[in-house]
Amino acid sequence: MINQTNLQEIYANIEKAAIKSGRKAEDIKLIAVSKMHSIEEINEGISLGLTDLGENKVQELCSKYGQTIKEVNWHLIGHLQTNKVKQIVDKVCLIHSVDSLHLAEEIDKRCKKISKTMDILIQVNAAGEESKFGVSLKEVLPLTEEIKKNCENLRIRGLMHIAPAAENPEDVRKYFTDVKKIYDQMENVDILSMGMSHDYEIAIEEGANMVRIGTLIFGERNY
Ligand SMILES: *Cc1c(COP(=O)(O)O)cnc(C)c1O
Repeated sequence: MINQTNLQEIYANIEKAAIKSGRKAEDIKLIAVSKMHSIEEINEGISLGLTDLGENKVQELCSKYGQTIKEVNWHLIGHLQTNKVKQIVDKVCLIHSVDSLHLAEEIDKRCKKISKTMDILIQVNAAGEESKFGVSLKEVLPLTEEIKKNCENLRIRGLMHIAPAAENPEDVRKYFTDVKKIYDQMENVDILSMGMSHDYEIAIEEGANMVRIGTLIFGERNY
């Protein structure tokens, strides 16, 4: 069961953080991360107003796709293997996890076949964590250039970042700031996807305009 009060609280917190950083609630897009949650729970969320859903696995996204009570925007937020690209290019509005030219080229090729221009984000691993995918801060601009040169069916909309797990979200503020600095050096971008259940307010304060929230909306996941 989705707790509607939680959802209201999230929207209120988003607004507060947006105002703190000189923006409005409408400037921040909420992606509801529905991984490990059932289509019933997802549909409950949709009836409460959720419009954008995020999944981190291709197979799970495909199994839920088409089963929603209303049309929604699906986001692929997790690591994407090249051999699975063809299954999702017709289903998602934004791929958050592009971290190599090789992957970008495969998405580009598959999009050409269906005459689609795909919006993508470059995933950046600002803390250099071994356990996470994504390019280093230094690699962002060179990879962006390579993709622009080679992939005419892709549109780079910005960056996605997953901060390290930290007991105190203040400890990861610096990573959000670092990512924002690189984002500001990119041309023609408008999406900065960072912030999850435990750190979304700080991410917004540091410039995020898209947050990906799972646990706070749907509850704990049972792995
Ligand atoms: C699971 C996941 C989230 C949401 O995490 P919560 O802590 O449950 O809010 C956000 N982004 C990515 C890439 C994820 O895999």
